[in-house]
Amino acid sequence: MVTIDFNMDNIQKCLCPGCPVQAKSECVQDKLNKLKSQSGGTPGKDDVPGVYCSTGKATCEGLDPSQMCQCGKCEVWKEYKLGEGEPGGYYCAKGEAR
Ligand code: SF4
Ligand code: SF4
Repeated sequence: MVTIDFNMDNIQKCLCPGCPVQAKSECVQDKLNKLKSQSGGTPGKDDVPGVYCSTGKATCEGLDPSQMCQCGKCEVWKEYKLGEGEPGGYYCAKGEAR
């Protein structure tokens, strides 16, 4: 059982914002644009289209799981040894790391 912190450090390391699985989701792109214009403080979980290993399944629709998950290249994934747990990737579709 792992618990991944939802904090600025992990938000910044997360590769989900550039992941092709999410690239065509308008809802995701909207959230990313809003984040860019936001300043100061840690954003709310629902405002960040990423760190799904911590927060669980994506609330946005329009994701394309036929594209390649980027988690295996992520520093958070390495740091928490997420390859040893379940589901090992595609947290946006399969839920948080455990
Ligand atoms: S969890 Fe994996 S598949 Fe889902 S958006 Fe993040 S990098 Fe892409
Ligand atoms: S392991 Fe995946 S979901 Fe978790 S922070 Fe990294 S890219 Fe995002």
